[in-house]
Amino acid sequence: MKQTKEQSVVSQADTETDYDAIVVGAGFAGLYALHSLRDKVGLSVKGIEKADDVGGTWYWNRYPGAQCDSQSFIYCYSFSDEIREEWDLERRFPKQSEVLDNLRFVADKLDLRRDIQFGTAVTAATFNEEDGHWEVSTDTEETISAQFLISGTGGLSEPYIPDFDGIDDFEGFSTHSARWPKETVEFADKRVAVIGTGSTGIQIIQEVAKSDPEQLSVFQRTPNYATPKRDRRLDEMEEAEIRANQDEILEKAHNTGSGYPFDSSYETAEEMTMEEVEEILEPRWQEGGFQFFTAFDDLRENEETAEKVSEFVRRKIREQVDDEATADKLVPTDHYIGTKRPPQFTDYYEQFNKEHVSLVDVTEKPIERITATGIQTTDRHHEFDMIIYATGFDAVTGALRKIDIQGRDGLTLEEKWAGGPESYLGLSMHGFPNLFTITGPQSPSLLSNVPVPIEHHVEWITNAVEYMIDEGHRLIEPTKKAEKAWGIHNRKEADKTLYKTTDSYYLGTNVPDKPNVFMLYAGGVDSYHDIILEVAKKGYEGFELTDSIQNLGKSGDTPELSVLNETTTESVSSDD
Ligand code: NAP
Repeated sequence: MKQTKEQSVVSQADTETDYDAIVVGAGFAGLYALHSLRDKVGLSVKGIEKADDVGGTWYWNRYPGAQCDSQSFIYCYSFSDEIREEWDLERRFPKQSEVLDNLRFVADKLDLRRDIQFGTAVTAATFNEEDGHWEVSTDTEETISAQFLISGTGGLSEPYIPDFDGIDDFEGFSTHSARWPKETVEFADKRVAVIGTGSTGIQIIQEVAKSDPEQLSVFQRTPNYATPKRDRRLDEMEEAEIRANQDEILEKAHNTGSGYPFDSSYETAEEMTMEEVEEILEPRWQEGGFQFFTAFDDLRENEETAEKVSEFVRRKIREQVDDEATADKLVPTDHYIGTKRPPQFTDYYEQFNKEHVSLVDVTEKPIERITATGIQTTDRHHEFDMIIYATGFDAVTGALRKIDIQGRDGLTLEEKWAGGPESYLGLSMHGFPNLFTITGPQSPSLLSNVPVPIEHHVEWITNAVEYMIDEGHRLIEPTKKAEKAWGIHNRKEADKTLYKTTDSYYLGTNVPDKPNVFMLYAGGVDSYHDIILEVAKKGYEGFELTDSIQNLGKSGDTPELSVLNETTTESVSSDD
């Protein structure tokens, strides 16, 4: 479908493009971006999605036991009362199918599918410098042009499987958790291996263990601090109460550091005895959910608080596991709780009390290779019918880096991010005009209840595009100086925390040869949101806005960034 200039509301275009905007991905981010740009601004928008349906991460992660760790009443869009009111909440924590059904419902309700091309992966995106637009190539051999390119590719969408020797030799069933087949997989009487004990591995393990396998072997490298979820079906009274307060709850969630509607109860546990800490944590442990992490304000900054909370959870793990040697292996001692994404459990630890469930510590006995019939560790061969790789993701940057993105002056994203991601506000990049990254690197994204920052980003992008149309601008690109200032500000926020003390996908340490830099904005969703709103209010401070590609990069000195604190801007020299 060719978009004519007359049809387009972005009427300043020098040349015709197929669409005003291309949105990559049809998960929470892509669906809202498509709706907002198409139905609010009136742009012609094309959605492109690799899967054969909407859902994003909730489409792909259909493994047994997949369930959201955020409560159903906050893991949702807040932008439409109607959508919320028409949707019934089933459980305290929605299962994968419930979140997926909700996104399908939203797509139907807003009539989004007609503008999404499913079963199509974006392989490359090149900025056409002559005409000032993006040309997007797909694995269906198409090239589609648009003035704006919006990525809604998600931070956890590029699966990572370690490069084990012999991985293709295995003759049984094997899959990565995020590529689970649509058909039912039976575990009864099977010998099953699960590699990985992150949030995903824990959910799969507790499900497989209860599905009558002959044997379940859990291959663990690093134990995790899992806290209870305490899921249950919501009864009518609970749902009615949530409904009565949901506006307020969501409003609150949009104004906290975490994107959750919870306040911290105490500043610190530094001066408290372990008994006092236990008294505070015990009711939160019983309540379940991420509220547990809001007992102390400085959990992620103060080693003393972190150690006390970690010790509480270590004791709780020990209480649930009968065999002392197994408990020893399941108890983390090499990092503090909360320094990587905390998993939640339903009945994970008690599965290890079953005869048919065993734990293999791969730090003691590393995996040497995968064979036709199982896994060879340094001490023995383990025979399996099934191997499940719950080995995580090339997080935050993986999905974008997989697309061959080329900006101005032939600069590729691969080159730009060779030393780790660089961006302005986690939303945009110098050298890549009119490209917006929803919950991109250096934004709070994975450190929070993600639908919240997704909405903030989509609304910010929508307003920026409207502003450009009103002001007669065709191109928007952050200055190098603004990008550098944002990088410094990011590092400073991360340095205040304990995140860098632990290997994690936040730092890229889970993927060999990935630059090890902290990739997320640690200053909090609320502060971050204030900053991006202030940037917009100040006429998109730090961005160059222009009507012609020839003018880009020629606007002379860019003013100081007043929205970031003095120390950040001071250290960016004027010739940057
Ligand atoms: P993950 O947290 O990165 O965990 C991957 C696991 O694989 C870790 O235990 C890791 O060990 C292990 N592993 C990686 N390479 C290995 C190797 N060569 N040998 C042995 N073990 C290896 O990935 P995930 O569990 O898929 O979770 C990713 C994120 O997805 C979560 O943090 C969460 O944000 C999201 N998620 C959300 C939900 C939810 O809302 N309910 C559910 C699932 C996932 P190391 O720790 O030693 O690296």
